[in-house]
Amino acid sequence: MATVGFIGLGNMGGPMAVNLAKAGHTVKAFDLSQAALDHAVEGGCVAVTSAVEAATDAEFIVSMLPAGQHVVGLFQTGDAPLFDVISKDALIIDSSTIDAATAQSVSAAAAERGLSFIDAPVSGGVGGAIAGTLAFMVGGTDEQFAKAKPMLDIMGKNIFHAGQSGAGQIAKACNNMMLAILMTGTCEALNMGMKNGLDPAVLSEIMKQSSGGNWALNVYNPVPGVMEGVPSSNDYQGGFQVDLMFKDLGLAMDLSQQSASPIPMGSAARSLFSLHKANGNGGLDFSSVLKLYQDS
Ligand code: NAD
Repeated sequence: MATVGFIGLGNMGGPMAVNLAKAGHTVKAFDLSQAALDHAVEGGCVAVTSAVEAATDAEFIVSMLPAGQHVVGLFQTGDAPLFDVISKDALIIDSSTIDAATAQSVSAAAAERGLSFIDAPVSGGVGGAIAGTLAFMVGGTDEQFAKAKPMLDIMGKNIFHAGQSGAGQIAKACNNMMLAILMTGTCEALNMGMKNGLDPAVLSEIMKQSSGGNWALNVYNPVPGVMEGVPSSNDYQGGFQVDLMFKDLGLAMDLSQQSASPIPMGSAARSLFSLHKANGNGGLDFSSVLKLYQDS
């Protein structure tokens, strides 16, 4: 069994850390939020008082933070950079969704110091984090991937080696742009059906079994009351925040710009989430973008 330093115990990181602890690993957990830390401790993690304490003598360090600047600050530029304390035998697994260029530069800076850093962003939402069924998209060498795999197998079901450093983040940006397009399209179709008198549950079932079927309809219906246990049926609380989807669409915009890849659908989806965020909905689950289509 390994010692894992886990930093960032939010909606996703909390349950991921708990699954590692349940599998028998010693998980030294840290978060700036006491509530998040308490939750992880209830699930079997060991509370520590700083990220440095979590990372010191750990064989694996997992980070699950909001954005690129947090990852850079934690490992490289903050008051107590973790690169100063992490063992050369350890593997750093950053599962935050950040831009590929930052992932590559942090990985290169780690390598210069004899340390090992991979990008391993996830898909599958909070439900997948709790159930241990996340998809991981890994950017790193074959050797790094082989070392990370047993840990990722505990937290996820589908573990992909996307390519070299940064490739996991590129895969993630492509996936989440697609997700944003599917969710907005699904809201558009469901709203039109409802405005024309259809029951959203019946219309959802029809589209699920027809050529419009997609992930949003299958597991994340945006209309309150159609599906149990999803954010739409809980006032759009929990889940994947509009602010984070907006961030991810920004990462997709950057990638498209750098590579001159046309993304008209992704750009439209970003505009919709941007408006929805500007209307004060940044803290809601992203399926709440349905509100943008509805008569007020
Ligand atoms: P969250 O805001 O719930 O959690 C982030 C946590 O990081 C917070 O608890 C915060 O206190 C902590 N934190 C920030 N800076 C810290 C620091 N320096 N030291 C210690 N703790 C720190 O966010 P989340 O929903 O768990 O998402 C985390 C990452 O996973 C994001 O990059 C997001 O894009 C990605 N992601 C989220 C989902 C989802 O459905 N929520 C799905 C896939 C990927």
